[in-house]
Amino acid sequence: MSNNGIIHEATTKQRLLAMTFDDGPDETYTPQLLQVLAAHGAKATFYMIGSSIEAYPDVARAVHSQGHEIGNHTYNHPYLTKIAHAERKEQLERTHTLIIEITGSSPATFRPPYIDYNDEVAAEAAAMDYQMIGAVNMEAMDWAAPGVDHIVSKTMEQVRNGGILIFHDGYGDRSQTVEAVKQLVPELMHQGYRFVTVSELLKTAEPV
Ligand SMILES: [Zn+2]
Repeated sequence: MSNNGIIHEATTKQRLLAMTFDDGPDETYTPQLLQVLAAHGAKATFYMIGSSIEAYPDVARAVHSQGHEIGNHTYNHPYLTKIAHAERKEQLERTHTLIIEITGSSPATFRPPYIDYNDEVAAEAAAMDYQMIGAVNMEAMDWAAPGVDHIVSKTMEQVRNGGILIFHDGYGDRSQTVEAVKQLVPELMHQGYRFVTVSELLKTAEPV
């Protein structure tokens, strides 16, 4: 289930998936995704950048009020293995506080930008009671806008019980992501999958 402390999927016999959206909140694409998710009663997790929470607090509040999880994705998206300990700590703590201001409670999960981490990053995340979250569909590469069909097919290849799926709602034109999610959610629900938050998914994990 985990490798060096990062979790790409949960072990479960249930047909559960966790969709995640990184790099928001964004005033254009986050509301579009919220609409798609609401239309299907799907829950997701948004790994937000602290500086973007400051820019679009209302969008962050809408994400929370619609029952989605907000996770920590640092303050301004550095490579965490390339900065000093104190700066790293500040990146995590500043966004931790911003999320508490939005949700009223401590965020439970964290995704390192670029999935760039080492033992020190893992230890710091653990010290803050964070679970460090990866994903199984990295090859979908939605952040590079490789085409809707690519995002959909590379994601479908990796879909399995307990899988965590990565997409992006901020920092660029995310219209391909919105379209891909519009196709993926109903198709996967048709296959019997249910979309839950990462924290909810991890609660169902069985000891291996
Ligand atoms: Zn990111």
